[in-house]
Amino acid sequence: MARAPRLIVDVTDLRRRLGQRREVQIDLDLAPTTVVDTSSTAEPVVGAVVFESIERGVTVLGSIELGWDGSCRRCLEPVSGRVEAEIDEIFQVGAGDHEDLRDFDGEQVDLVPVVAETVAFALPLAPLCREDCPGPDPDRYPTRTEAELEAEAAAAPPVADPRWAALAELDLRDDA
Ligand SMILES: [Zn+2]
Repeated sequence: MARAPRLIVDVTDLRRRLGQRREVQIDLDLAPTTVVDTSSTAEPVVGAVVFESIERGVTVLGSIELGWDGSCRRCLEPVSGRVEAEIDEIFQVGAGDHEDLRDFDGEQVDLVPVVAETVAFALPLAPLCREDCPGPDPDRYPTRTEAELEAEAAAAPPVADPRWAALAELDLRDDA
């Protein structure tokens, strides 16, 4: 199995003074992630983030861009595109399981899980080949009404967000 990608940023120097900033370029080869019927492409995920030293940690702000492939939700023809997504994270020593913070050792920040999560949540899950795509046969398959869609949703059992399942399948372990 290929070695898991790494993007470790040492913030020891940055954290010597509060408010100090450093820009970090992102150019990461991640294994494609698939959520429902949309996948990220094999092209590198690119972007840039700015690290800033704060009390007990760092903030990481920026954006990434990635390519995706999927199929049109109406006509099912292949469709692809690029999407940009924001990164906005706080790494804090001793953050524990705080939901808005990421715990770290105060010295090294691993950006790979952050980028992988951002990719999974940026994928368009119901893309269209074009805004007014009529579908394969609009007369036979008329667009369902809002009320019909709600009734279907109420009848269906609740499902976990498929994006988390896709993330769970990603192997981000260093020793893989
Ligand atoms: Zn279409």
